[in-house]
Amino acid sequence: MATVSSSVSTMSVFRTAKLLTLNAARTLGVLEALRRSEWRQNQLLILAYHGVSQHDEHLWNNELFVSPECFAERMRALEQYGCRVLQLNEALEMLWANALPPCSVVLTFDDGGCDFYRQAFPILRHFGWPATVYLTSYYSGYNRPVFDVMCSYLLWKGRDRVLETSGLMANTAKLALKDPAIRESAVRDIQLFARESRFSATQKDDLLNTIADRLDVDYQTILAKRILHLLSPAELAELSVGGVDIQLHTHRHCAPKSRDYFLAELEENRDVITKFTKVPHHFAYPHGVYEEHFDEWLGSFEVLSATTCEPGLATSLSNHYKLPRLVDTSSLELLELEGWVSGFSTFLPRKRVAIPSHIPPFYY
Ligand SMILES: [Zn+2]
Repeated sequence: MATVSSSVSTMSVFRTAKLLTLNAARTLGVLEALRRSEWRQNQLLILAYHGVSQHDEHLWNNELFVSPECFAERMRALEQYGCRVLQLNEALEMLWANALPPCSVVLTFDDGGCDFYRQAFPILRHFGWPATVYLTSYYSGYNRPVFDVMCSYLLWKGRDRVLETSGLMANTAKLALKDPAIRESAVRDIQLFARESRFSATQKDDLLNTIADRLDVDYQTILAKRILHLLSPAELAELSVGGVDIQLHTHRHCAPKSRDYFLAELEENRDVITKFTKVPHHFAYPHGVYEEHFDEWLGSFEVLSATTCEPGLATSLSNHYKLPRLVDTSSLELLELEGWVSGFSTFLPRKRVAIPSHIPPFYY
């Protein structure tokens, strides 16, 4: 216990010190001066979002979802900072030619949730800004809730209830879902059970219905709002006509260790995307996880760039297949975003985010 509390307090001291430094830099005009500097002009900030809530998703998972109010506030802030929001391909060509405009930013959205169409896109249209959706395509064609995340969402929705687990996981138990640790472990056990039982997508969908029933969660309303669904082919076609750039994120949200499987994932993904828009040449790593040899595999597939989830600004010297990207979440203070927009935060010490040993497939 001592170790945990000391690491938590170290983290908050570290974060507080960082925020104080950023605040001082803003007060002294350093952030503004950097935003206008030639040094910043030669760099590109790529921002990553996942979802913009349709209902209460940001309260369930504030790392995956931001509220529409929070998202609109971020966009207003970028406008106030004088950012030039560019389309990904155009921005990368300018970056590699050392021809970027001042304070340039690219907006990217991972996975392709249908909330992008309903929530983010109208806000982006208001600002007249382009965006890239890195689409994972399996659940776009099979347009039902994404199993792994819906499983977690339903248990959160039923957090004041007790879940009877027979037929849902290997062990039968009655779990009080109030405790977040019990919920988290139950979600993992249900996902594992579905995987080890080799459930089809339809069987997994039935499992979600059973969970919602047992927890007395109003699942029909969740389905009607298409919460945790991906963009349908019709929505993708409309977005593409509306100028949204659709790029690669694998078919099943995974980066297989075998070259053949990895390239097959990309090919299935590209086949879906090219049904309604131009051939994609840019990629984002699912979960931000990458390995050195992916560079060659991506190059052989005519991929021109790949983005990670490691915060930073890209320069013309950055590896094209390891471009840094800042994941903007509800837990990031606006001041921290301002720090990254200016480039000031690249000088601040950072704690490396550990990649979890257990990474669920997430989208299949
Ligand atoms: Zn993703």
